[in-house]
Amino acid sequence: SNIFFRPIDKINAVIESYPKGIAGFKRYLEVIDTEPDIADKPGAVDAGPLRGDIVFDQVSFGYDPGRPVLDGISLRVSAGETIAFVGPSGAGKTTICSLLPRFYEVTGGSISIDGTDIRDMKLNALRKQIGIVQQDVFLFSGTIRENIAYGKLDAGLPEIWEAARRAHLEELINGLPAGMDTVIGERGVKLSGGQKQRLAIARMFLKNPPILILDEATSALDTETEAAIQQSLADLSVGRTTLVIAHRLTTIKNADRIIVVNEDGISEEGRHEELVNAGGTYSRLYQAQYHA
Ligand code: ATP
Repeated sequence: SNIFFRPIDKINAVIESYPKGIAGFKRYLEVIDTEPDIADKPGAVDAGPLRGDIVFDQVSFGYDPGRPVLDGISLRVSAGETIAFVGPSGAGKTTICSLLPRFYEVTGGSISIDGTDIRDMKLNALRKQIGIVQQDVFLFSGTIRENIAYGKLDAGLPEIWEAARRAHLEELINGLPAGMDTVIGERGVKLSGGQKQRLAIARMFLKNPPILILDEATSALDTETEAAIQQSLADLSVGRTTLVIAHRLTTIKNADRIIVVNEDGISEEGRHEELVNAGGTYSRLYQAQYHA
């Protein structure tokens, strides 16, 4: 399920009422930052820039009281490490990741980044340090330039171009009638699924957060596009702590560590080869995907 559904949905609803694009959106960001369901604690600190050492210490959480989804999860992720969460649908992979930007608050235990409990950080400062790339890319009616700059609202044109290049969007943009100023969306040029994903990646290069959450696509892109996007994502994750909610074995294989999550919590962790040789859940998942 799409974990980030709730906040994104909120944003989409407001965007539609702000047809003027980025200027309106900027105003909106100030609004959400001041009316979160989860409030800043008195004395909360301005986090950042962070290195990205993450510790989940005995974390428990449930959406409904009396029905825990996570029960005492502990996990340590080093700055710069890429970890991939795998496991059956509904096990809680997305939930674990949605606790990090505090879309929901833990009900037990704690999560800290660089040794500071995330509840002691200002919410907007914390979220600035975390980039999320998900399959439903959120675009608004506006130009390519504005859509990329959504990753950093005060960005200048040279850095927007740099981000576009790193996401392999240069050729596409140069081929459009008004280049960077081409309007996309409802009243403009329609982008393909793969192009939208690259635009989302360009935003992240521009935002440049030390921590990334990649909610991997479940629906297939064509093989060539898929390979190009995997490469851009691999480039993006260099030097950042990256949590991947994984569905594709290709990405998982390159992770520094794979975390297998099932209904009872974390059942296995290790590198691809180690887990295949261990003959547990992961090796069964792997066999099933390759010999189906
Ligand atoms: P998938 O691979 O299908 O994305 P997942 O491992 O990411 O699954 P989660 O989406 O984290 O699993 O869901 C864990 C549990 O929490 C499931 O039982 C799910 O039904 C429940 N759940 C997820 N989001 C919500 C929500 N917003 N409100 C209530 N329950 C939820």
